[in-house]
Amino acid sequence: MVWPAIADIVAKVRAGELTASELVERALAAIAEKSDYQAVIAITSERARARAAAIDAAIKNGETVGPLAGVPFIAKDNFLAFGAETTAASNILKGFNAPYQATAINRLEEAGAICVAKANLDAFGHGGSTENSDFMITKNPHDITRVPGGSSGGSAAAVALDMVPFALGTDTGGSSRQPASFSGVVGFKPTYGLISRSGVVAMASSTDTIGTLTRTVDDLAVVVDVMAGKDPLDGTTIDRDVISYTDLPADVTGKKIGVIKEFMAEGVEPGVRAQIEKAVETLKAAGADVVEVSIPSIPLALAVYYIVVPAEISSNLSRYDGQRYAYSTPDAENLEESYTKTRASGFGAEAKRRIMVGTYVLSSGYYDAYYRKAQTVRTKLINEFAEAFQQVDFLVGPTAPTTAFKIGQNTDDPLHMYLADIMTVAQSLVGIPAIVVPAGMSDGLPVGLQIMAPARQDRQLLGIAKATEKLL
Ligand code: GLN
Repeated sequence: MVWPAIADIVAKVRAGELTASELVERALAAIAEKSDYQAVIAITSERARARAAAIDAAIKNGETVGPLAGVPFIAKDNFLAFGAETTAASNILKGFNAPYQATAINRLEEAGAICVAKANLDAFGHGGSTENSDFMITKNPHDITRVPGGSSGGSAAAVALDMVPFALGTDTGGSSRQPASFSGVVGFKPTYGLISRSGVVAMASSTDTIGTLTRTVDDLAVVVDVMAGKDPLDGTTIDRDVISYTDLPADVTGKKIGVIKEFMAEGVEPGVRAQIEKAVETLKAAGADVVEVSIPSIPLALAVYYIVVPAEISSNLSRYDGQRYAYSTPDAENLEESYTKTRASGFGAEAKRRIMVGTYVLSSGYYDAYYRKAQTVRTKLINEFAEAFQQVDFLVGPTAPTTAFKIGQNTDDPLHMYLADIMTVAQSLVGIPAIVVPAGMSDGLPVGLQIMAPARQDRQLLGIAKATEKLL
């Protein structure tokens, strides 16, 4: 059964026509019924039921309840949350119970939302398919022989499978946008700093953002509205650009939209290209002023990303040393052996690969050749996007060169797997917001249109996305 719009659910809860407890039971039943897809690592049913009962009691007492009262959601398992372990899908965090919750989760709970489960991911967010999870591979909701995308693949699949009305993901280089495209849902990466990352397992601190996955842009706006804004626990957070993200300016007429030339070059699957071209034509017909825009350094973005991000990963993952978190090797004779054995057995192959690459590009003699050069090109990318936004209000393009690929298809060749990120990493390096809306199907698999806006124009971006969603 398809969930009604979040605003309708909350209206019914407030009016006493639906209870939070009923909604939680419905979500838990859907999760159990669709367990074959392996979208979920852990269920937080006990805490969810208790929270639902408290909300139902508050409503009975005539108390006012928040804008997400009773709405069940699933959080990617790299969010610190009560009610289950937080593992980031890595063996090295097995057994870790969060001592505090992520700010995003706290804000959602204050608004009345209820976390019912933790979603699968590529361990620590390293990947684009969920195949790098140490625990399980999530299946694509449209074809179980294919991946749902990643790293927030469990979150995207959970929404596409109607387990919950919304799910939290993260997006460091595409991890909410690409699974949205592969699974056929809406996925949002905000401006860097708009949503607090306090209490989210760090991947690459200069590009990490909180992603949101929903069925519709309206649902997304309600959730983002609750989470956005400054947080004293995350020094990178920025003030909200607007009072409200829900009253959206949803019109494409007269809007100047640039199609990124480099994203429509060779290598884009014909079926993907066809859907994106169709979407662009639809925008034109609705009155948008569409032009082609070039961002010449885009072909370099992937190389920059796979230097800068592993560098930050190698630093962020150094804290998992067998002393501070749950997992520690049982057979160490001394402290140094405890470090090395814990890390050797606790990290998966992809985390190790990124630690090695990151350490290499930061090491003396290579820093200038790789890391510094990559940061220089990153600045060039920032400038080129700024120039593009002098010419147009929004940029559009595909989200990935292909639709969802087969499970196992790219696992033997990490470089090939990285190439699939070509259309999402530049925006992360630059820090701008981007959203993916479903734009039809190619051979029975979803295609997502990616729309980008200048930094801090998240509300305008949600507005154009809402208009586009309606037209498509
Ligand atoms: N697929 C990209 C990577 O492997 C993006 C991951 C992410 O955004 N967390 O790094």
